[in-house]
Formats: sequence, structure tokens, C-alpha cells
Amino acid sequence: MNLNESNSGLGLVIIVSGPSGSGKTSVCNAVRKELGNLQFSVSCTTRSPRINEIHGKDYYFISREEFDRRTANNEFIEHAEVYGNFYGTLKSELMNKIKAGHDILLDIDVQGALQIKKYSQNDKEIAGCLELIFIAPPNFAELEKRLRSRQTDAEAAILKRLQTAKSELVLWKEYDYILVNRDINETVREMKNVIETLHKKTKHLEHLNFDV
Ligand code: 5GP
Repeated sequence: MNLNESNSGLGLVIIVSGPSGSGKTSVCNAVRKELGNLQFSVSCTTRSPRINEIHGKDYYFISREEFDRRTANNEFIEHAEVYGNFYGTLKSELMNKIKAGHDILLDIDVQGALQIKKYSQNDKEIAGCLELIFIAPPNFAELEKRLRSRQTDAEAAILKRLQTAKSELVLWKEYDYILVNRDINETVREMKNVIETLHKKTKHLEHLNFDV
């Protein structure tokens, strides 16, 4: 009996969210470096590029007018306002990558994650490859400590992030997995294990069949 792997299925859509200060972005970057088939989804944003950020690699940096036009054209699978800037995931970006068989990692906020979860209720193709991972800090005091130690944000911005974090943390049960980031190396290992295990889930292997 052989498992026939001649036709490849869609890649996985892996959404990763977590409050600012959870270490989500560092974890995603490290996992991305280690897993060859995993690609980032490049989002559109209206915020200005930071030093070292590259258009088309980190984000598509677009004007508010262009963002609104793309929203009206229904080009985003989700979009949200985060800390005063607009962000959106392009359907084309996502579909092209998963149809090429790549896993795609979306580092997006909780509002966007829940929009895609809702969208998937009416889209079997997306529902079949969607997985949501929540990265949490060990506790709220640690989150506050991490945000304050960055020393890049003004007090008002820190308070805003803490407030937002509270509303995000209560939504962790909407996700399929939760990883508590006590130690970055450990969390990277855990996330790699989760992704590797996802590839063994039968719902992601429907393209395979047994030669019987
Ligand atoms: P930053 O501007 O620091 O890169 O990202 C700020 C927040 O926006 C992060 O929580 C990040 O996950 C989120 N974000 C980035 N891209 C998107 C997107 O396409 N959609 C949504 N909903 N959030 C995003």
C-alpha cells in the first residue's frame, strides 16, 4: 500500500498573533529562517517605513488613498486599523503562495485573524489550510516590563499598547494553539514542532490517496 504524493496540495495558512511585547515578531522571524518552505505574507500598510524596511519585502508601503481603493476593490482578505495605521492582507498574495505549495505565515493582529477565521466559514479552500497560533507573554507584568524596556515608545503609546494587549489576551481561545513565550529559543522550537505536526494532520492531506 503506497501513499500517492504525486499531486501536491495547498500550503498552510498560519496566522500568528499576540500582543505587542509578546515576542511574536522575533519568534516568527526565527522560525521563518529555519523552515525552508515557509514564506511571510507581505501586507499592505499606510505606516511609514522604518529604517532598514524594504518595500515589497517587509510591507507594501502605500498611501491611505491606495489603501481605500484596494479595500473598495475587495482586494484584502482582512484589514484593520492598528495603532492609528491601516494594515491589510492581499488575497492575491496569500492565494499565489499557497497554490504554489508554500506555507504562508501571517503576522497579523487579533482583529485581522478573526476576520480571516470568519471568512473561512464560507471558503472551504481556506478553511482546509487555516491554522491560528497565539503567542502570549508569561504574564501581564512581564509584558509591561518588556514594553518599557524597549525605550522607544512614549508613555502614552506604552499605555495604549497595554490597553490593547488586555483586549487581545482574552481572545486566545479563538486560536488553535497557544505558545507562552518564556524563552525565545524554546518558543521557536515549539512553533516549529507545531508546524511540522500540522503537516501530518489528515485535513491537510486530502490531496493524497492510497494506491490500494
Ligand atoms: P508593525 O507596524 O509594528 O510592523 O505592526 C503593528 C501590528 O500590525 C502588529 O501587531 C502586526 O502583527 C500587525 N499587522 C501587520 N500586518 C498586518 C495585516 O496585514 N493585517 C493586520 N490585521 N495586522 C497586521
